[in-house]
Amino acid sequence: MSLLQALQINPALFVAFVALASLAIGSFLNVVIHRMPKIIERQWRAEMADANGQTLPEEPRYNLMVPRSQCPACGHAISALENIPVISYLVLRGKCAGCKAPISPRYPLVEAATAVISGFIAWHFGFNWTTAAALLFVWSMIALALIDLDTFFLPDDITLPLLWAGLLINMGGVFVDLQSAVIGAVAGYLSLWLVYWGFKLATGKEGMGYGDFKLLAAIGAWLGWKMLPLVILLSSFVGALIGVGLIVFARHERNNPIPFGPYLVIAGVIALLWGEAMTRYYLQSL
Ligand SMILES: [Zn+2]
Repeated sequence: MSLLQALQINPALFVAFVALASLAIGSFLNVVIHRMPKIIERQWRAEMADANGQTLPEEPRYNLMVPRSQCPACGHAISALENIPVISYLVLRGKCAGCKAPISPRYPLVEAATAVISGFIAWHFGFNWTTAAALLFVWSMIALALIDLDTFFLPDDITLPLLWAGLLINMGGVFVDLQSAVIGAVAGYLSLWLVYWGFKLATGKEGMGYGDFKLLAAIGAWLGWKMLPLVILLSSFVGALIGVGLIVFARHERNNPIPFGPYLVIAGVIALLWGEAMTRYYLQSL
């Protein structure tokens, strides 16, 4: 029996396989979350210099693969053995093997969370292409949420490919028909654009950024326009809940901005998993 056949007939094995493989994906997402903003900043600086007719000093190569990961405190190169998702963190007790500087627990947390969510998706959708597509969606969303938390910025390098991917995947009607996906992309962008300008004209403040519009456009492309009201409602609800929680429990300053992207991400993932059931329930109770 081939591995694929074994995964197909044994749901528990399939879930365990996806969860374990996703630990490595989580590890890669950590790299993307850490490096992509820096890569974009470099490109931006190079373009600025180019436009001003300057040449920047040659910098060492820096992308998602190069250089190898190293300790930010002492520069100790992280070996393959020290780079095993979650396990290395536990074995090293959260400290760099070179200088004993603490390693952020966020790295193993992102890896573990990616594994748990991915395993859940495998269980929810089963052994089929829907799971493969849903995993791609959720992995991108995890990276976006954390980059937005860190930098208040949702890179086009993720939101736009995610949008195209949603349209392509729905050409085969994986989540919705293509028409719903195209309308979803346009309506997703426009609805937040309208909220943004309404809010700005009314209060003079900016509640969100253009990255949020593109993210909702991508969610619309994946889940179709019918999910958009639910996603907007859920993200506002989650936002209010977390916002109040942060102010009450973490003494977060009321005026310190919180990025909106992570709420859209949480709402988008909930809508992916239970959106249909939720809208059906809502329409019935009307
Ligand atoms: Zn170190």
